[in-house]
Amino acid sequence: MNLTDALNCYCSKHLDNRNWYRWKIQEDYFQANFGITLKGKTCFDKTVELKNKLHEKWQSESDSDKRKSIIKAYISVWGGIKRISDGTINYYMTLTPKCLISLGKKGVASWSKALVIQAPQQYAIFDARVSLSLNCLQEMFEVEDKHLFPILNSRNKKVQEGNKKIADISGNWEKPDDSKFYDRYLSDLKSVADHNHTDIATIEMLLFAKAEDIWMCFKNNCKYSDIQKDNHNRIKLCSACLLGLACRYNGESVPYEKVLRLAEEEVLIPVCPEQMGGLSTPRPAVELKNGRAVTSDGEDVTKNFEAGARQVLEIAQLYGVDTVILKQRSPSCGCGQVYDGTFSGSVVPGNGITAKLLLENGIKVLTEEDL
Ligand code: SF4
Repeated sequence: MNLTDALNCYCSKHLDNRNWYRWKIQEDYFQANFGITLKGKTCFDKTVELKNKLHEKWQSESDSDKRKSIIKAYISVWGGIKRISDGTINYYMTLTPKCLISLGKKGVASWSKALVIQAPQQYAIFDARVSLSLNCLQEMFEVEDKHLFPILNSRNKKVQEGNKKIADISGNWEKPDDSKFYDRYLSDLKSVADHNHTDIATIEMLLFAKAEDIWMCFKNNCKYSDIQKDNHNRIKLCSACLLGLACRYNGESVPYEKVLRLAEEEVLIPVCPEQMGGLSTPRPAVELKNGRAVTSDGEDVTKNFEAGARQVLEIAQLYGVDTVILKQRSPSCGCGQVYDGTFSGSVVPGNGITAKLLLENGIKVLTEEDL
């Protein structure tokens, strides 16, 4: 197996959604300084949107100071490389892409970001996390001719630990010329992106986001099959009432045997969107009527339902969860069926408010009846 095959195997298992990317952006800063408003719903979408909008501004700007401020903001504010100097940015701006690439590993986490702002479809960020993922995957997939991607400093303890291990085992790996590894990286990314019908940025973001998982998998001697379902696939959110928590409107729970059994094997994080939206327990029963959450007395509590749904989504994104198990037919949690708003026990096709928001954000929703 070569590196491209290994990357294809790994990446193809993680491209159904983009929930593994959970780094937030300082949106206020980019709004105040560049007038950029991000409309994307997920961290992944917003990150891609920010990059594209900064690129458009950079392209339409003729003033070199303003161009410099765009690149600097991307490297230091978005990228977190606080100590980059104006002199370094000025220097990057005098260099062609070819010359930037020839700088090699020195400053690659910065200069690759400068390249990306200039041509986001053509270039990708290379940093310590991406490098660790590339190196670990070669060992885990038993790639025949292993190439050592530069081991870069990181403040992240797990990345440091992984780097140390890679340094120990890579004595006989091929060490590409310092000015050539980035071209090799781009060419691998392009092959994998083409194979998976996506773009190089998505593959780069996946390798970045999964660096710690990949390293932990490597550290624990995971087999090839284990790599396909790393930790995040074993973490799910679950309606708290199904796990036996007494959070239902009537102060009761509905523990569900299959859910309880699953909780012995996987991490199920309990969530109750109605409580999280500020409603008390017990509380009046609610059903959906024309998309609104209304009690049997006619009180509209949609705001609480929506607030709870947003918090559940936030938790899912925080943990990179891609699947949730929700209580069928509930006005918050139901998926595919909900009570019809007459409080008569009748059911109609539809989704609860939380289930709907999760589905809109690419998260797979199962109900207890799907288990
Ligand atoms: S909102 Fe969801 S988790 Fe909370 S009680 Fe209702 S069905 Fe259960």
